[in-house]
Amino acid sequence: MASNRRDQAVRAPREQVAPAPRDQAVRATRDQAVRAAVDQGLLTETEPVVALLDTDGVRASAAALRAAFAAVTDAPVLHAFAVKACPLVPVLRLLYEAGLGAEVASPGELALARAAGVDPARIVLDSPAKTPAELREALALGIAVNADNPQELARIDALLAQAPSASPLGLRVNPQIGGGTIDALSTATATSKFGVALRDEGARARVVQAYLDRPRLTRLHTHSGSQGLPLSLLVTGVRAAYELAEEINAAAGRRQVDTLDIGGGLPVNFASDEETPTYAAYARLLATEVPGLFDGRYGLVTEFGRSLLAKHGTVLARVEYTKTSGSRPIAVTHAGVQVATRTVYDPASWPLRIAAYDAQGLPKEDGPAVDQDVAGPACFAGDLLAVARPLPLLEPGDVVAALDTGAYYFAHHYAYNSLPRPGVYGYAAGDDGTVRFATVRPPQSVAEIVAEAGGGHPDALVSPDAPVRPVAPVRPDASASD
Ligand SMILES: *Cc1c(COP(=O)(O)O)cnc(C)c1O
Repeated sequence: MASNRRDQAVRAPREQVAPAPRDQAVRATRDQAVRAAVDQGLLTETEPVVALLDTDGVRASAAALRAAFAAVTDAPVLHAFAVKACPLVPVLRLLYEAGLGAEVASPGELALARAAGVDPARIVLDSPAKTPAELREALALGIAVNADNPQELARIDALLAQAPSASPLGLRVNPQIGGGTIDALSTATATSKFGVALRDEGARARVVQAYLDRPRLTRLHTHSGSQGLPLSLLVTGVRAAYELAEEINAAAGRRQVDTLDIGGGLPVNFASDEETPTYAAYARLLATEVPGLFDGRYGLVTEFGRSLLAKHGTVLARVEYTKTSGSRPIAVTHAGVQVATRTVYDPASWPLRIAAYDAQGLPKEDGPAVDQDVAGPACFAGDLLAVARPLPLLEPGDVVAALDTGAYYFAHHYAYNSLPRPGVYGYAAGDDGTVRFATVRPPQSVAEIVAEAGGGHPDALVSPDAPVRPVAPVRPDASASD
């Protein structure tokens, strides 16, 4: 295919150093997918923004994760994918078939994992706000539950007195080791809302006692944060949990804590196609710094999200118009706050790489790089994917690609301006080398937007006869048990 040859010859005109061969291969695969998406009509006037997911890439990351831990321990390890990073059923199934489980934090996420066919034995429930109904369901299914706080432990005690459960139970602790570069995602700060704050006055002793009082409490959980945390800080958090488990087990005089859940949070490199840091590097560092973790006395649970998916997702959007404002060239595209919410509201923490393609989906390489804004479609001034970004001058009909958006981006639609959720398509090269797409999530239709916005009962606020509560009341006994 002529376009393939051209794609392989792609180079970035502005880069000073030649990209590493692996980067080149990643880019060639992506370029081929963009070309195919345009060729096969995924991106149209009515669907001007789509999301693509490289399924081989996702599989490779899952395999790399499993291999990294298998290289440092013979202990059983459950890699529970943090569903919040990409809450799409076919993605959960893909990861499950690749040997992963699911970490869920809401009834919706649990339902997604179950819809994907994930075995309850491979599901872990974490959340700071589990309701009695949620806990009851998890305990009935035998899903592992990590309690967040002493009140939740007491609630679980009461539920267990009512009905037996096979669920492994743990407690989340906050080692209070400090935050990373992104406050909103640092969960191990002195005042974080998550887990039992271990360094607070008397807290450690109370945690140890909580275990001694509850022989069923066999797991210990910590998750220090997501993105922006250096590996050393992640390791410090894991070491704190390990040392606490040792202390509990010494006090119990037996191996009561038999499983350590070390959370997720491996940071992702958003600056290039290089996948760094790697799972292998993290696992090796843990093995060096916390050797007892891997000596076989503890089973392990991990909860990685972003690092499994981010590099494998791409948002494509058509350039609708271009203009100049205050001498700044601006390309108005269809990808903005609805698919890149964090980048738009906190661009300093979440910069995204943008790649430019022409209307045929070929890499746009002609002409000098010009500083330009890449804007989204939403009606507020800050709806910008990139500001003053040097790119070949974009024209109407061109395609921009927002890279590394496989986690916490297109799967996290923000319904501003009633912009539709874009379609999500997995892609892989077929045996003949052509790119095949599979629908992960169809694009949201305008009719669906209307229905979800109360379109089924337009008179609700103006008709005296409209029922006050058109939905069935919650079961009155739902919280009677505690
Ligand atoms: C968000 C979260 C994760 C996943 O974090 P990533 O940065 O996506 O790896 C894992 N565990 C818990 C408890 C979380 O809240």
